[in-house]
Amino acid sequence: MPSNKSLLVLPGDGIGPEVMREVRRVVDWMDRRRRVTFDVKEGLVGGAALDAAGHPCPDKTVEAALAADAVLFGSVGGPKWDSLPFDRRPELGILRLRKDLGLFANLRPAQVWDPLVDASSLKPDLVRGLDIMIVRESTGGIYFGEPRGIGTRPDGVRHGFDTEDYGEDEITRVARVAFDLARKRRNKLTSVEKANVMQSGRFWREVVTNVGKAEFPDVELSHMYADNCAMQLASRPKQFDVILASNLFGDLLSDLAAAVTGSLGMLPSATLGAELPGGRRHALYEPIHGSAPDIAGKGIANPSAQILSFAMLLRYSFGMEEDARLVESAVERVLGGGLRTADIMAPGAARVGTSTLGEAIIRELDKLAA
Ligand code: NAD
Repeated sequence: MPSNKSLLVLPGDGIGPEVMREVRRVVDWMDRRRRVTFDVKEGLVGGAALDAAGHPCPDKTVEAALAADAVLFGSVGGPKWDSLPFDRRPELGILRLRKDLGLFANLRPAQVWDPLVDASSLKPDLVRGLDIMIVRESTGGIYFGEPRGIGTRPDGVRHGFDTEDYGEDEITRVARVAFDLARKRRNKLTSVEKANVMQSGRFWREVVTNVGKAEFPDVELSHMYADNCAMQLASRPKQFDVILASNLFGDLLSDLAAAVTGSLGMLPSATLGAELPGGRRHALYEPIHGSAPDIAGKGIANPSAQILSFAMLLRYSFGMEEDARLVESAVERVLGGGLRTADIMAPGAARVGTSTLGEAIIRELDKLAA
């Protein structure tokens, strides 16, 4: 069967290839059982690419990523490459991909799966059923704004400085992504800034309000100062549906939200680019965890975040909502059935390795699709 769905798989380093193997099983299952054929290509990135091709993100990888409908990324980095100069670090692999694909909207779901409700640092009642989506602007703001530097003021005092600078176009395009997501979820968007003390925050609020009024009047929009949002996430997280934030605030808040869910090995993410002619977007999906060198090669990594990243890919790149839910349900049922990798181990559960958990997910998929 010819495929109109092309995937570029970039396993990378450390546990990347181990957890990606389990995703490949799910892709094969989709081919067999859902009769959806993916044209899967595999490429090099990170330390693996440095070793094989002399660059953490070779041109060939970028070309393949531009040509694919979606990129599934593992993780990069590790002690072997830690002493390399900055311009040769494996982490440049993901930075180049984000830049060359123009990926500006980072989507970080913070979801508490029922069987893992006790893994949260918060009381079970506060997080049971938690399902938040944080949309972080990821190519602009203070991490890139000019002027920036370390210098000396006219009075001779040394200083360090960065610039928060957002254009109307940058805020508008990421706001559209967030509004659109809210519309497909519980229709609530909280836009976060510091309009009380930052001019860029006042402007952010104005632009988001205008986009809402003009294009998404049906979505309930509220505004919140970033410090209050952090407090609310740590005390009453279930009040949120979609949160929209700048690069800096989104960075902090998405990590806080991840910590509330309590399990690094369970958290996927997506980063989307602008809509291209024909309606498709460049998009890259990856777990939020790194290459976990401390457990790499031991066969004990939790493959769930990588598999859930594939579920996000089905949902956001191919509109395959039913299949995305199927994969998510299979993961949840395996955890509910008491199989756990070491990172999410609980009293009374059976400790299993990466491939045993992956096989159990396939068995649950079989049952769900029967
Ligand atoms: P990490 O996320 O790799 O690991 C943090 C801790 O969580 C470790 O103890 C690890 O064993 C554990 N862990 C992570 N994922 C797990 C999983 N799926 N199953 C079980 N346990 C898991 O973060 P780190 O140790 O700070 O970074 C290690 C390397 O990864 C560094 O080189 C760093 O630069 C890189 N990194 C890469 C990315 C990326 O590729 N996008 C992101 C973060 C860190």
